[in-house]
Amino acid sequence: MGSERVLFVDHTGQIGGAELILLDVVAGRENSSAFLFEDGPLAKALVERKLKLIISKWGSGLSQFRRDSKWLAAAPLVGRLAAIVEEIALASRSHDVVYANSQKAFVLAAIASVFARRPLIWHLHDIISPEHFGAMQRRMQVMLANARATKVIVPSQAAASAFIAAGGKRGLIEIVPNGLALPPEPRTAAELRQSLGLPQGPLVGVFSRLAAWKGQHVLLEALTGLPEVGCIVVGDALFGEQAYAAELKQMVLARGLADRVRFLGHRGDVPKLMKAVDVMVHPSIDPEPFGRTLVEAMLAGVPVIATNAGAAPDILEGGRAGTLVPPNDAKALAHAIASVLSRPESLDGQLAYASLRAKARYSVTQMLEAIGLVIRKLQAGAAA
Ligand code: UDP
Repeated sequence: MGSERVLFVDHTGQIGGAELILLDVVAGRENSSAFLFEDGPLAKALVERKLKLIISKWGSGLSQFRRDSKWLAAAPLVGRLAAIVEEIALASRSHDVVYANSQKAFVLAAIASVFARRPLIWHLHDIISPEHFGAMQRRMQVMLANARATKVIVPSQAAASAFIAAGGKRGLIEIVPNGLALPPEPRTAAELRQSLGLPQGPLVGVFSRLAAWKGQHVLLEALTGLPEVGCIVVGDALFGEQAYAAELKQMVLARGLADRVRFLGHRGDVPKLMKAVDVMVHPSIDPEPFGRTLVEAMLAGVPVIATNAGAAPDILEGGRAGTLVPPNDAKALAHAIASVLSRPESLDGQLAYASLRAKARYSVTQMLEAIGLVIRKLQAGAAA
């Protein structure tokens, strides 16, 4: 599958949610190449999938450049960015379609497309809402998209609406929900906990990279009011959020949570690990463009509590497939955790419904078919 020559472009060498999706999308696309701004675990995983790999000579460290970094600090980078644009333009010439998998990749690929005219897909994994981006950044992103993107793939109606509200052209959008694989065969939660050295009492988990907007601190705050409940915090600071990670660890000490909260760092076995917890908490304080861990928990048969913003209410069908709580409200979250842990009668029905819903709407096969179709159409259009 996938004979088209696609140049996949990503700014990071790390494997976050967007890159896990990329790794599914590139499978079986051995005529394609990946252009990364920097080396890292993603580069290795792409080579394992038999893609030709190009690593920029100029991009190292740019993934740590944060959304809120000052424009002035960017000035010395301009020369490096121009050099990367040239590298992407050169690589584009031997490909049919360019596929930008991140914002930073899209911005540079869009400029490169002025020099090497190839259809350009932006797989937009973010939600361009005021909570995440300043007005100028939003304007610049949609201006470039309107001018240079051939298609913008987004994972949810919430992400599509934010793109349109920022001024993006509706006709560019293709909504393709993320697809998630079924988790490995069940082991009992008790067995799993034993093998991980986790306590057998009530246990909640949060499974996201550590970043302030992901809201891990709200869960820690909620735990201060739930003295019987343990917690695993899975994930690490992947994109320059080390200060927040340190704050979380400090908070655990300051609130006397050290004997109940375990930081497990970044893990490669999240779907399995989820089966160890009684509740999967998704405490993001800003809207999520999607939220893969919601679906992972639904497939794992684990109750979900998520904040009611972005794509979560759609994925959880307004609360039918999980519990929704207001964002940034530790009291409401604590209340919801206590309620789910008390196992209300409705929970079994909710879990069965969530699993059916996740399998029907969020399969990898559906995602790959939809994205494959977009790529084929653009390649055929360019060849015509
Ligand atoms: N994840 C992981 N290891 C970790 C923490 C998270 O592999 O230690 C995975 C998680 O299972 C999910 C993805 O990273 O598939 C995160 O995707 P999501 O849409 O939840 O958030 P993003 O990081 O893309 O904003």
